[in-house]
Amino acid sequence: MPSLEAIEKRVVACRRCPELRAYCAQVGRVKKRAFRDHEYWAKPVPGWGDPNARVVLVGLAPGAHGSNRTGRVFTGDGSGEWLYRALYRAGFASAAVATHRDDGLRLSDAFITAAVRCAPPANKPTPEQRARCFPYLREEFAALPGVRVVVTLGKLADDTVATLVKEIGGYRGARAPFAHLAESVVDLPQAGGVTVLASYHPSRQNTNTGVLTEPMLDAVFARARELADMGALARSG
Ligand code: SF4
Repeated sequence: MPSLEAIEKRVVACRRCPELRAYCAQVGRVKKRAFRDHEYWAKPVPGWGDPNARVVLVGLAPGAHGSNRTGRVFTGDGSGEWLYRALYRAGFASAAVATHRDDGLRLSDAFITAAVRCAPPANKPTPEQRARCFPYLREEFAALPGVRVVVTLGKLADDTVATLVKEIGGYRGARAPFAHLAESVVDLPQAGGVTVLASYHPSRQNTNTGVLTEPMLDAVFARARELADMGALARSG
């Protein structure tokens, strides 16, 4: 089973989607006016965080001028500002502000990854691109033995995790329809129950319109910690 470090190396070097690699590189050359002095990462963005994480967050894909610029998941755009502030308030991140992959921020008990690791045009990966990137998610989960809670950020991430769950035996009972704070449980022989906890994505579209508020996001991470602690109690009891 490959380690997280080995997966990260292969992700960064991946060329399974030449059209996405070309798009990311082009965005990095043209840049956004506000970031014209920045050196863009312009490559696939690997998952990152605590290798002993009990809580894993799954997002959609890098933002063209967010993590495609900074090289770290959810770092450098409006979605990330919301997400890291919430993770900090919940005690999963060492700082409320994430600016770059070398900014010194650390995650504790949390790991963040995505359904697709190259920025897609209009934030819309194709089914083929999602399928090509999916094996990395499978490998990351295999390399994270402590996972008790999977927070899916948005419907597409929730659907991608559902594909993974199907491979490993399915949900206990039915999968909950996607909704904020919806929960589904997966039985894993080595881990007991793992809960998939859905959240609206902290995109500008959701946060600017009030579809997702900070208290709503705080409720997700409070529940994630509660579920992780309940899992630990069940195993020690
Ligand atoms: S989207 Fe995934 S599979 Fe496609 S090139 Fe990027 S890292 Fe590779």
